[in-house]
Amino acid sequence: MLLEAAGRPLRDAQLAEPVPGPHQVLLRVAACGVCRTDLHVADGELPHPKLPLVLGHEIVGEVVALGPGADRFELGARVGVPWLGWTCGECRFCRSGRENLCAAARFTGYQLDGGYAEFTVADERFCFPLPPRLAAAEAAPLLCAGLIGYRSLLAAGDSAERLGLYGFGAAAHIVAQVARAQGRKVFAFTRPGDAAAQRFALELGAAWAGASDAPPPEPLDAAIIFAPAGTLVPAALRAVERGGTVVCAGIHMSDIPAFPYEILWGERTVRSVANLTRRDGEEFLALASQLQLHTAVEPYPLGRAGDALEALRAGRVRGAAVLVAEGSAFG
Ligand SMILES: [Zn+2]
Ligand SMILES: [Zn+2]
Repeated sequence: MLLEAAGRPLRDAQLAEPVPGPHQVLLRVAACGVCRTDLHVADGELPHPKLPLVLGHEIVGEVVALGPGADRFELGARVGVPWLGWTCGECRFCRSGRENLCAAARFTGYQLDGGYAEFTVADERFCFPLPPRLAAAEAAPLLCAGLIGYRSLLAAGDSAERLGLYGFGAAAHIVAQVARAQGRKVFAFTRPGDAAAQRFALELGAAWAGASDAPPPEPLDAAIIFAPAGTLVPAALRAVERGGTVVCAGIHMSDIPAFPYEILWGERTVRSVANLTRRDGEEFLALASQLQLHTAVEPYPLGRAGDALEALRAGRVRGAAVLVAEGSAFG
């Protein structure tokens, strides 16, 4: 499914099977998650995508061919491909454990073709071996939604016992499970009137669920904003107690309105989380296995990728939308 230009619907295209280059593996895609970032790319909100482009950066695939020098995975191995597709390995960020900030990094489904396809290639050094327990469709959302949620939770801090989650979609429904397992109290904020999302949050163990413009029943220690709405930043700052942290987890957000200094005062922090490191992936996937995290998935056939994006835009997805290959052995 090809994006030819920002703002245009995806087109069902017949492309040549990609050939794996040095250190790359060729993957038969079993499932690919649909992420909010895909919408930002498709809508032209992120600059300079590769065009035409195959979106998708939550790929679960089977290794079917190896490029020159690729020796990390056996043929038939099941691997996950995340957003971080390549880094330079040499800059000061790469050398200090912050490859997520590498200025030369290339991202899957943005500068590199991704997983809205039957086949894709990926640099094996940036792929993750996947635990066999989960079906492909259920594993796919771990690769971005889960990972970014995990990195955001680290940024929220170990001492954040009362955690607010703004936007209860793919990422929040996973991070809520991690936070609960760690003994934190979760407060879920949804679009006003979205009773279904509020029920979903309560089912996953949230202590409270309500509208994003409502105050929580008690002050929070930290909040993570997954929804791309800048108005939520002052709302979340008002909801956190002194010393609290507000983490913006998305890659794109509408402008943040001006707010009075007093809601930042008291050593409150606003910060963002950008991309992921391979170390985040290894830690989080091990944790996902250990905690037996479950993902709620709405499957779509690959040809309906455009419908999946529109469902996500409209807030109609419970958990994560995932494109599933027909006849996949791992489906
Ligand atoms: Zn670098
Ligand atoms: Zn993503």
